[in-house]
Amino acid sequence: MLEDYPKTMLEFDHRFGREAQCLEYLCALRWPQGVACPRCGGRKVWPMKGGRLLCSNCRHQIRVMAGTIFQDTHQPLRVWFHAIWQLTGQKYGASALGLQRILGLGSYQTAWTMLHKLRRAMVRPGRDRLTGRVEVDETQIGGLTRGRKGRGNPGKALVIIAAQEEGKGVGRIRLARIPDGSAQHLHAFVLSAIELKSQVHTDGWKPYQGLEALGYEHQISKLKGQGKEAATELLPRVHLVASLLKRWLLGTHQGAISPEHLDYYLDEFTFRFNRRKSASRGKLFYRVVQQATQVPPAPYKLIVGGNPAANHTPLGSVA
Ligand SMILES: [Zn+2]
Repeated sequence: MLEDYPKTMLEFDHRFGREAQCLEYLCALRWPQGVACPRCGGRKVWPMKGGRLLCSNCRHQIRVMAGTIFQDTHQPLRVWFHAIWQLTGQKYGASALGLQRILGLGSYQTAWTMLHKLRRAMVRPGRDRLTGRVEVDETQIGGLTRGRKGRGNPGKALVIIAAQEEGKGVGRIRLARIPDGSAQHLHAFVLSAIELKSQVHTDGWKPYQGLEALGYEHQISKLKGQGKEAATELLPRVHLVASLLKRWLLGTHQGAISPEHLDYYLDEFTFRFNRRKSASRGKLFYRVVQQATQVPPAPYKLIVGGNPAANHTPLGSVA
């Protein structure tokens, strides 16, 4: 299917004002070759109420939203589409409070949950890894909320950043929260984020040793007698990304983020950063709706519980 998306607010309103229009769009993205009945393979279906399609051959009912992030939602698709339009339309994204106001949602929690589900849809399943020359370094994110988990949550998290070199600038990036800076986690991240045979550029931190054995070209830069701070000049791209990330977390979300939820924000930041040169809001909208049909549903409980870094997608099987 050709990438088909609204280009202006006016067009958006015109195209997605009714629930049936949203459902049709979702179907087209979910089944680009057209819907086929999972029971009989029939290709002729009729729209029904409640987001269902009826197979005209065997009368089987297909639930359009099953298996997507919209599964079991109480919100109309219109509201979801509007939320995505908001999320993709603002340079720095949307906060839960802002979304609640704009969409007139009954509760802050509803807005918060919707945003978190959408953040999951910002990671493309099966997305490709970085290639070429890639800088890698860790950074400490502080000022996170201590929240419910209380003990054992120091309000900080360690985030590892990979930034592709593009001339003097930064190409694409990958981010992940890691439990600590041990070789186990650093190596797992590099493997999940960077294509083999690429050149990985790090500082002299010992646990990075062994990347060559994994199949990378490893370039190490170190300044004699200086600590981690000196890496700013050695690895300028990751440090630029780190400072933009911190500013964004503080600015848009005012630091109201707990370490367990940080992963989702990293996904959103990565999505925005890697598409920062894409001028078209509609295209970002299209991408998120498309990915929303490919990402499994995330029940509220799972989202509230956070996501252990080890199971998070950038380090997992689909990354
Ligand atoms: Zn059928």
